[in-house]
Amino acid sequence: MSELLLNHLAGRPQAGSGPGTALSDPVLGTELARVDATGLDLREGFAFVREQAGAALRAMTYAQRAALLASIVKVLQANRDRYFEISTANSGTVKNDTAIDVDGGIYTLGFYAKLGAGLGERRHLLDGEAVALARDGSFQSQHLLVPTRGVALFINAFNFPAWGLWEKAGPALLSGVPVIVKPATATAWLTQRMVMDVIDAGILPAGALSVVCGSSAGLLDALQPFDVVSFTGSADTAAILRSHPAIVRGATRINIEADSVNSALLLPGEAPGSDAFELLVKEAAREMTQKAGQKCTAIRRIFVPEALYGAAAEAISARLAKTTVGNPRNEGVRMGSLVSRAQLAAVREGLAMLQRHAQVLHEGAAHALVDADPAVACCVGPTLLGARDPDSTRAVHDVEVFGPVATLLPYRDAAHALALVRRGQGSLVCSVYGSDPAALGAAARELADSHGRVHVVAPEVAASHTGHGNVMPQSLHGGPGRAGGGEELGGARALNFYHRRAAVQAGAGVQSTLA
Ligand code: NAP
Repeated sequence: MSELLLNHLAGRPQAGSGPGTALSDPVLGTELARVDATGLDLREGFAFVREQAGAALRAMTYAQRAALLASIVKVLQANRDRYFEISTANSGTVKNDTAIDVDGGIYTLGFYAKLGAGLGERRHLLDGEAVALARDGSFQSQHLLVPTRGVALFINAFNFPAWGLWEKAGPALLSGVPVIVKPATATAWLTQRMVMDVIDAGILPAGALSVVCGSSAGLLDALQPFDVVSFTGSADTAAILRSHPAIVRGATRINIEADSVNSALLLPGEAPGSDAFELLVKEAAREMTQKAGQKCTAIRRIFVPEALYGAAAEAISARLAKTTVGNPRNEGVRMGSLVSRAQLAAVREGLAMLQRHAQVLHEGAAHALVDADPAVACCVGPTLLGARDPDSTRAVHDVEVFGPVATLLPYRDAAHALALVRRGQGSLVCSVYGSDPAALGAAARELADSHGRVHVVAPEVAASHTGHGNVMPQSLHGGPGRAGGGEELGGARALNFYHRRAAVQAGAGVQSTLA
């Protein structure tokens, strides 16, 4: 039997009492390890984290906690090769895709280490200036931000076991809030290994970082009002969480990053083969194939002017045709696997559903797998669909196929394009391509209310733009409406979630002690 991965809670390693759930290699089909959280005393574990680790972290200054983050970065860097091996085995990713997860996580943590060092030797933050409440200024209101006295529970998705942990843990630990992470079961190994490495390195106070692998049963019941929850996953699970009594009655703060039918939009006035056209084509093909399309930010809908529909279909398809799919251990392979048989089934089902409303412009099934047995490997080629009547084709705006699938859609004019993009009901990101700064700026303003991020690509930023789907810690990640309504990252804004805001009303003498 494979190794049982331990949980770490209440400051100690703990094994579940059940047989465990197997984690598999999605390419070879072999069992890699097992996880199990049966029988853990979650209430005791959460209480330990809340009381002991919380107090220890809050006793430190921002600069001290930033130094802890910097030390974690060193531990993760030292073990990077092992993380790449685990990712290849458990997520089926090629090296470049593993790097987005592992190196992206380390980079984000490093970003918060630097940001935190700049906050200095303080234990709370001021929110704005003191304002006078009395005419003579003798009585004032000053808003403070103080770390919440609870745990930060992360319930994460399967697609970013490394980045998904550190992009949240960086801001939480920097804020002085201890973390309990429950990774998605399918790819829990990498998260578990990273947490264990950091704990073994003895950097953090006991209980400041905990991991519970396996079933989520009972996790939410252990919550208290000052805890915070970050959830990343499907809209269906998000709805269950939102209505849980601990969230509803305790007003426990919850941030939700859910699914999203993101868009790429080529503005009117660009010729086929123009720089802007080529940038859209390149980005669409890259977004479809990177991490086999298992990115919450990936492009799902591609909007082009009606006259360019045929040219765009041809150009994107030509790029996709060059994508080699299969075993990520083979150097010739550019796109690895989906993470599990369940995901393979979900992608096939979603694709079949969309195909009832759209035509196939590039057939993923035509890609022969390299070094992988199609009967075992969860690999699937990229499929480009097209729907000439985007107004009546509702499914393409509603259904997120979480794999290498996107749909090309023609529009009549700019107003039509913006209306179609908005049919995603709120997305994480829209990328806009063109060469006229005024038109690009106007589109960005128009799309800002329904997106967490608008990524504008003009020829002059061809070499420097950070990519439609890449989430940078400097920028907001999250989106309104269907995308969950959450907000993460965005530089120092990320700390707000882990702090409580209070107005202190007092005389000038007292206020001067808070500065
Ligand atoms: P999921 O089924 O909702 O699972 C997400 C997490 O929730 C997993 O850790 C899962 O644990 C846990 N979970 C499942 N049922 C639960 C319950 N009743 N109570 C508490 N936790 C529960 O989502 P998924 O299919 O793994 O993830 C893919 C989705 O995530 C996609 O739709 C994608 O768009 C979205 N996503 C969004 C973002 C973003 O930042 N917006 C990022 C990545 C992914 P188990 O694994 O043990 O079931």
